[in-house]
Amino acid sequence: MVTLKRLPFDYEDMEPIISKEAMREHHLKHHRGYVDKLNKALAPYPTLISRVGGLGALLASPKYIPLDVKKDVVNFGGGVYAHELFWDSISPFSTEPYFSSVLLSQIKKDFGGLYELKKALLETGLAHFGSGWVWLVVTPTGLRVQSLDNQLTPLMRGHFPLLCLDLWEHAYYLDYKSDRERFLNALIGKVNWANVERRFVAYL
Ligand code: MN
Repeated sequence: MVTLKRLPFDYEDMEPIISKEAMREHHLKHHRGYVDKLNKALAPYPTLISRVGGLGALLASPKYIPLDVKKDVVNFGGGVYAHELFWDSISPFSTEPYFSSVLLSQIKKDFGGLYELKKALLETGLAHFGSGWVWLVVTPTGLRVQSLDNQLTPLMRGHFPLLCLDLWEHAYYLDYKSDRERFLNALIGKVNWANVERRFVAYL
């Protein structure tokens, strides 16, 4: 059983980047839809998520997912996981990583700098065809930016996600129509780098 995680800010706090109406719709309809569908699919297995140590652990170990609900868990569970991380990936009060931070040194090593990482997020998000997410992940060889289709998460590749940005049209259509570039540019300026750093340090 999963519950709809509360937003870490109020519905209007991301304005004008994301309007109050779009935020409510996204959280209360789309995110909640995945929560409800996941709970319905997992009704015959009520203790599965807690037994493996959480939704992230379940998505990272697909062998524990019963075959008859595998597709639903990947789609709906992935939707829940990604939306929870998405809300933590953005902030009304965006913070840049500290000059001396562990995260920033790793970013410099793997991308050249924060500017290049932001450019990779934008370009990868724009190049992605159709619905999906763009992710910043930790891999055995360092940080990488990658996009995945629909509700697939990097967890099933053994990668640890630090942030994700929603590329589904429902994320921006109300405010930006089909202009994914303007939406992504605005979002990238509002990344919650403090949370990204917290996740990175916890992973190390
Ligand atoms: Mn979404």
